[in-house]
Amino acid sequence: MAEGTATVARSELGVLAVQLLQRLIREDTVNPPGNERRIQQELKGLLEGAGFEVELLAAEPERANLVATLEGEADGPGLTLLAHVDTVRADPGEWAQDPWGGELIDGYVWGRGAVDMKGQVAAELAACLALGRTGWRPPRGRLRLVITADEETGGDLGARWLCEQHPDKVRSDFVLNEGGGASFELEGRRLYPYAVGEKGIFRARVRTRGRAGHASQPRIGENALLKLAPLIARLNEQPPLEPTVEGCAFLAALYDQPVERMDDVERALDRLRSESPRLATILAEPILGTTLTPTRVSASQKANIIPSSAEVLVDCRQPPGRDTGDAQERIEAVLGPGDYEIEFGEEVVGNRSPAGSELADAIRSWIDETDSGAGLVPSAMPGFSDSHWFRQAFPDASVYGFCPQRDQGLLDSAPLIHGADERALASDVELAARFFSALPRRLLV
Ligand SMILES: [Zn+2]
Repeated sequence: MAEGTATVARSELGVLAVQLLQRLIREDTVNPPGNERRIQQELKGLLEGAGFEVELLAAEPERANLVATLEGEADGPGLTLLAHVDTVRADPGEWAQDPWGGELIDGYVWGRGAVDMKGQVAAELAACLALGRTGWRPPRGRLRLVITADEETGGDLGARWLCEQHPDKVRSDFVLNEGGGASFELEGRRLYPYAVGEKGIFRARVRTRGRAGHASQPRIGENALLKLAPLIARLNEQPPLEPTVEGCAFLAALYDQPVERMDDVERALDRLRSESPRLATILAEPILGTTLTPTRVSASQKANIIPSSAEVLVDCRQPPGRDTGDAQERIEAVLGPGDYEIEFGEEVVGNRSPAGSELADAIRSWIDETDSGAGLVPSAMPGFSDSHWFRQAFPDASVYGFCPQRDQGLLDSAPLIHGADERALASDVELAARFFSALPRRLLV
């Protein structure tokens, strides 16, 4: 049943955030092609009206990034609220509602990008507009809103380009982006994860070679595909779990006890698996080491030729700091000895920010006041986001993924990301807007 924004959001700020989210969803920014310029132009007008200095910076004309700044009265730290406005595609045939309708139904705003991540764009934007319109200016430092294009295909025209080509326009001490904040319950307590790092991506081609021949005489050649098949089967195994920095910190915070060695990890993980197997699978296991996922195979280009080479593409994700040599070692350990080659294409070393910082303290104190009894726990993103480029450009900055979701928890929202029927709970969009408007008043003083 359709309903008005005023019935799902209690405050003026909440109504504004929900309306902005609806507007954002109704603008198709599926990347590729993205076409972010038109919505960015509109947001620029809104932010200028609230007193921000706004620039659109574009590597390609239709792929504008927005940088809005509210300068403080004295020197001090720079806080950046970061978000991307592009989305992945959606197939309307798989959805119960129009992916670009932005309908408000039973308390949820429906549409592609509602969770990843137009909901956070709307919350950050509403907070900035509300702060600016009341005449608030940071007593110290500066508040920035950076809305990027092109995140979903890696940020070459978005965050990466901004950080490499215009570092002075986006320089930051504290950055908040996507990747954390959706809560979960454990042993009767609500916990909010914040993402302090992201894994690296290493895409490897594992190749076997043989000898071509006519497919009507199977033994005339040497079939590379048949040599590859047992290697693919071996990829059903994962490299062993390890006591990684992020994995240990996460498990230690969950149970409030030191987790340093592998036996500590195993003990904590067993406890988590027995309480919430899905949390163990979604949050803990992917950050406890390297993962390998075969995603694509190719062999002969012709139906009647025995393939002389065959390959499987392996998507390998490694904890922050690990390089190509580490990836190769782990792939070889899983495959074992044999007659194959490994060649790397994409290689991105993951990075991290320290878990302890003024920014983490400010988030924690906001949770204490807003959701008493709840806790904040460090985690890492198994995926990739714009945070990577900000950490790389500004190594001293604290860059975290955090946007609070209290009622639409992690286990509900994680499957909607890049999936069908993506929708954001309006009351959580309101909560996030309250958080993003409170934070600058805590940090920039
Ligand atoms: Zn995203």
